Amino acid sequence: MIGSGDKLWDVLVAGGGPVGLYAAIEAARAGLDTAVLEARPGVLDKACGEGLMPAAVAALQRAGVRIQRKHCFAGIRYVEGGSCAEGRFNDGVGWGIRRTELHRALRERAGEVGVKILQHRVAEVSDDRDAVVVDGRRARYLIAADGLRSPLRRSLHLEAPPKYAPRYALRRHFRVQPWGPFVEVHWHDLGEAYVTPVASDEVGVALLFDDRSRTHGDGDFEVILARFPVLAARLAQATATSAVRGAGPCEQRSRRVVDGRVLLVGDAAGALDPITGEGLRLGFLASIAAVDAIVGGRVPQYETEWRRLTRRYWWMTSALLALRRSPLRPLMMPTLCHLPAVFDRILGELGEQPVALARV
Ligand SMILES: Cc1cc2nc3c(=O)[nH]c(=O)nc-3n(C[C@H](O)[C@H](O)[C@H](O)COP(=O)(O)OP(=O)(O)OC[C@H]3O[C@@H](n4cnc5c(N)ncnc54)[C@H](O)[C@@H]3O)c2cc1C
Repeated sequence: MIGSGDKLWDVLVAGGGPVGLYAAIEAARAGLDTAVLEARPGVLDKACGEGLMPAAVAALQRAGVRIQRKHCFAGIRYVEGGSCAEGRFNDGVGWGIRRTELHRALRERAGEVGVKILQHRVAEVSDDRDAVVVDGRRARYLIAADGLRSPLRRSLHLEAPPKYAPRYALRRHFRVQPWGPFVEVHWHDLGEAYVTPVASDEVGVALLFDDRSRTHGDGDFEVILARFPVLAARLAQATATSAVRGAGPCEQRSRRVVDGRVLLVGDAAGALDPITGEGLRLGFLASIAAVDAIVGGRVPQYETEWRRLTRRYWWMTSALLALRRSPLRPLMMPTLCHLPAVFDRILGELGEQPVALARV
């Protein structure tokens, strides 16, 4: 048991957010004796767009995670001023899921497959000859899933500097019937608003922007929402169903994702920006790769595999961020409107089902 210093766990996971829980479920399903150390108790909420791309949906299904409350979406719609462009996934659907429901379902599944979840804030990690030592507890491997600001990434000196101007986020939910089968992205010179249907009578709204002074409460949410008049008008009569939550800076980088017996997954491994809504998809796929590497006795190769899995995300996100700031941005909507196949092609990539998901 954890706390009895002589037990050697196969895997300890630091951080019980969605990616840490997913990694623990995969490790336990692979027959590894696994515990999660999570600093906070109970079901956790977090600022997120809450749109799961088809490959993230497939990853949840593969792991046997049962979601009770969700809303399917068929693709993504971009809106700016009076024009809009739509792209559809060519394989499967996305799911809009409240973070609290996703976390509840992952915790439930983790319990079913024998993962121990312990409330503990990880403070110190060191190596002894044949184990990693986490605050006195020993394990063959540590999966670090402690989020965007990852204290572990910092303490292991794996941090790398950001390359772009910082961006921040606020999110809130509203009681309103979703008005289409899409995640809607509203564009503005100063940022974007993401609307994700999460139930038949509720949408989540995430606002992304670069004004650091606006990262606090309800007033800031209203000010930034007002940049998107079409959306603000739709929500004017809707009741807010959650508190405003903030996140950021969104860009966090790591130099490496493997350090001896420690493997970084999820936002702890690095994230550039949520603009493509891929964080959970990549976190789940990286978790599968990390567990495969542990089971196969080839942990150093996880580094290469993580880079392969995330390469397209880094360049596509960099390209979108560059486009946001470019004088060419006004051409984006007319191009997507006149060449819908381009949008479908991009979403086809997001909807792709990697081979790893086919394995049970
Ligand atoms: C505005 C916004 C919109 C987004 N939209 C989408 C979207 O639509 N679709 C999508 O797929 N992704 C989206 N993302 C990205 C997604 O939210 C993240 O990729 C995802 O939350 C990463 O999960 P995680 O488990 O790695 O980290 P987290 O969810 O941050 O979990 C980390 C956990 O580690 C715990 N922890 C921290 N330190 C310690 C410690 N020392 N000891 C123990 N525990 C610790 C924390 O308490 C927390 O529970 C969005 C992100 C933002 C900011």
